[in-house]
This record gives sequence, C-alpha cells and structure tokens, in this order.
Amino acid sequence: MSNVLIALLLFVFGLVIGPLLGVVVDRAVDRERLVAEHRCPSCRASLGAAALIPLRHWFLRCPDDETHRQHRYWLVDFTAAAAFATAGLRFGWSWELAPYLGLFAALVVMSVIDLETHLLLNILTYPALFAGIFVILLLSGPTGTEARIWPAIVGGAVYGGVLGAAFLVYPPGLGLGDVKLAPTLGLFLG
Ligand SMILES: [Zn+2]
Repeated sequence: MSNVLIALLLFVFGLVIGPLLGVVVDRAVDRERLVAEHRCPSCRASLGAAALIPLRHWFLRCPDDETHRQHRYWLVDFTAAAAFATAGLRFGWSWELAPYLGLFAALVVMSVIDLETHLLLNILTYPALFAGIFVILLLSGPTGTEARIWPAIVGGAVYGGVLGAAFLVYPPGLGLGDVKLAPTLGLFLG
C-alpha cells in the first residue's frame, strides 16, 4: 500500500476517532470524570450517545437550549485527521506508526483543552509545538537521527498519557500544566 493511500485512510480514521477525542476534551473542560453521561454544558440535560457518532456530532445541539460545541468538534476532528495523515505519509504502514498516532491524539486533546481553558497563551504556544514536531519528523529521515528521537517520543507519549489519564480520572488532583508539559519535555530532551 502506498503512503498516500495510508495517509488518506488515516485521515478518515482521524474523523472517525475524533468524536472520542472530543468527548475527552468535553470531560476535561467540564472537570468531569471520563466515564460519565454526556450532558449539555449549560443546562446539564442528557445528550445520549450522539456525541460519539462520527460526522453527525458536528450538528449536535442540546434539545432544550440549543447549546452546542460544533466549533470544538470540527477542530478536534480535522486536527486529528491531518496529524494522522501526516504520520501516515511519513511512516507508511510500519511499527512506528501506532505510537505516533497515540502521541498525536494526545497532543490534539491537550491542545484543544488548553485552547478552551487558556485561550490567549496557547494560540501562540501550540502552533510552535506542532510546527516543531513536524519539522523534527521531516528532518529525522535524511539526517539519520530517527533512532535518537524515537525513545524520546515514546517516553513523552507514555509519560504524558499516564499523567493525562490521572487528570481525567481525578481532575482536581493534578494541574493540566503538568500534563501538557510532559510530551514536550520528552520530545525536546531527546
Ligand atoms: Zn442544554
């Protein structure tokens, strides 16, 4: 399979997995536990499972007060799709692909959470982080430094994942700053 075809499939995969990431973002922004009923952010009415249906959740509205979060869902879905497609173009169908998808999914979630909670700061910092990652990915091939960045990225993904999971299970226990710092640390220490 060519890398372009894999990238296209991963773009679709990003759109399909996006609703799951969007719900994770909702939970974190609302400071709720990860496994909870999906509720309207303003009136707390139950919204059922509709937030998990790919593409359709773009049009999800609270039936009572019309509250919606489409802008966030569009952002999450298309950022994830673009990041996954980039990983597919870069790595093709290889053993390296899966950890990068995990890393990108975690970064998308953390970035959008931060966009929602600290709007100004992250408009500046996250494009820088993403640009840094893409540049590192592009340069690592020709310069033969893949072996060195690889353990760093895995370490950052695992560390960020563990702290992220801790935050989602028990939000008051951990500042989100710790969570978002972890993958960046792993990446640049490498
Ligand atoms: Zn509502």
